[in-house]
Amino acid sequence: MTDDSDNDTSCDHVDPCGCSPPLLVAMVEIAGLQLSRRECIKGAGAFWGTLALGGLASQALANTSDAKSGTEADVIYSGGPILTMLEDGDRAEALAVQNGKIVAVGELAAVMAQKGPNTELVDLQGKTLMPGFFDPHSHVALQSAKFATANLDPKPIGEAGSIADIQQILKDWIKEKQIKPGGWVIGWGYDDTGIEELRHPDRDDLDSVSTEYPIVLVHISGHLMTGNSRMLDEVGITAETANPDGGVIQRKPGSDVPNGVLEENAGMLVLGHLPMPTPEQAMAMLEEGLRFYAEAGITTAQDCATFQGTWRLFSALEEQGRLPIDLIAWPRFNAVDDDAFDAIVARRQGTGRLRLGGIKLGLDGSIQGYTAFLSEPYHVEPVSGDIVPDKCDTERAERLFIAEDNEALTEEPGADTGADDGFRGYATMTQEQVEHWFRRCDDNGIQIQAHTNGDAATDMLLEAVQKVRAEKPRPDLRTTIIHAQMMRDDQLDVAARHGLTPSFFPVHVYFWGDRHRDLFIGPERSARMDPARSARDRGLKFTLHHDAPIAGISMLKVAWAAVNRVTTSGKVLGPDERITPFEALRAITADAAWQNFEEDRKGTLETGKLADLVILSEDPMTIDPMNIKDIQVLQTIKEGRTVYSATA
Ligand SMILES: [Zn+2]
Ligand SMILES: [Zn+2]
Repeated sequence: MTDDSDNDTSCDHVDPCGCSPPLLVAMVEIAGLQLSRRECIKGAGAFWGTLALGGLASQALANTSDAKSGTEADVIYSGGPILTMLEDGDRAEALAVQNGKIVAVGELAAVMAQKGPNTELVDLQGKTLMPGFFDPHSHVALQSAKFATANLDPKPIGEAGSIADIQQILKDWIKEKQIKPGGWVIGWGYDDTGIEELRHPDRDDLDSVSTEYPIVLVHISGHLMTGNSRMLDEVGITAETANPDGGVIQRKPGSDVPNGVLEENAGMLVLGHLPMPTPEQAMAMLEEGLRFYAEAGITTAQDCATFQGTWRLFSALEEQGRLPIDLIAWPRFNAVDDDAFDAIVARRQGTGRLRLGGIKLGLDGSIQGYTAFLSEPYHVEPVSGDIVPDKCDTERAERLFIAEDNEALTEEPGADTGADDGFRGYATMTQEQVEHWFRRCDDNGIQIQAHTNGDAATDMLLEAVQKVRAEKPRPDLRTTIIHAQMMRDDQLDVAARHGLTPSFFPVHVYFWGDRHRDLFIGPERSARMDPARSARDRGLKFTLHHDAPIAGISMLKVAWAAVNRVTTSGKVLGPDERITPFEALRAITADAAWQNFEEDRKGTLETGKLADLVILSEDPMTIDPMNIKDIQVLQTIKEGRTVYSATA
């Protein structure tokens, strides 16, 4: 055990590149690392260990409320479709909730037996009640940071299709957030290749938004920033400022006057001038982020690559009763020391708002960044500038704050690719590392979430699984293959044999499907991306995710994408892999609860389970499947308490 102060190595954990996309996450992380110094979390021991207290405290609280006597329901819902998610087409007439749990569900007359003088009767008025959505994989801290900045994602993910759009979004942001003159305006996600003008917004474009506020925009790749004149003044960048090592201050044509765009390390000049959040501000940001999850109908969310400081913030929020929904955190393997590993062993089965899920592994990058590791070459070879490890990829973000990246993680793109046969991307872990972590987790009963996009990365995982589990009988660990986008039939067979479970990323088919077909992996492989039907045919349980902040936060859009497999151009990509609405909805409720060992408490509407519920504007089982994504979340209920209401 080490003293808390030993872990306050904030400075060592700052990303050396100030222009990284998780700029605000870095700020949150630093704020979190201050927590122990300020003794916001009581208890001795290393940072991961202190967290156990929060879990026990909230569990004690839950037990007290369970002890309330009487059989009278707090609330009874009826008057609309109530989808139990047990069987396709299974509907109940009414559902009763008491003390945060479902106490009756079924025929109206039977459920009404729970009605007492103080029971609230809710008429659904034809709206649909179903289990709250269970997010199988996303990044709460990153998404919360994104919510805290002006969203400049290009269309169709976001709304920024031109410089005029960006200007309008920034003006609206200043007004909406009531930023006082002089306060920083931060935007995130603009893409010079995704806007009409095909160039970066420059200082003149941003001066026409305002010169009263320093404005800084972070490029979608994280490698560039751009800002207005006020920002350049505040930071002290002038015509006389020399380019820093490893960075470029772009200049106006034919002069030394900066045009606002800062490449690579030039962005570091800005970092020190940004206002650092206090721990409380960082906590408020995460709390607000989770409220947006609740707004999307999610009652259990995931943070899949949690760092020390952020974990402290989550824990403090839990201690203070400020987590509106449940949260499962997954430390990344190379951020896990022995203390952290022990904490995971201790807290993987908690029933409080916050628990540790297990270990997150990352075996490769992303297909659209040419960094996924494929067994066969990419369809169209990348030119060197196309290989963008960061673009739309959380992998790099996850590697932040790790003082000593090992060799495998610092490999340059192109390594291990069999260059003679064509470019195949590359792995970000060695086979030895995968095996080591797989064995260590198996031996200790720890679940793994392993990111693999390319099928060669999945091969590495399956090779480790087969080797380790040939030596020992397989424990039921529900090893989860995250993304699993290019899993082949033979790989699905191995996964089924060894009890592995995929979590697919079907919104990829919508957002990037046309380019997957024409550019990255070609027509055959793209037609069976995210092979949900093939998995189902083998009896494999799977889940569906959005990987927020990568592809929005709507679980209904995720289900819609798997049901329809339509691309942005309106074409159907791989009709044979489509699944039914029931199968897709199971994958974001019951099967997601199962994948995370919470099927005894969540995922279906059954007596004794938590009253984690969502009320929708339409019935996703009977609506035209193409309209599933347009269904509105009207209300989200976490253990009987309304945590979001569209009308509130
Ligand atoms: Zn991933
Ligand atoms: Zn992810």
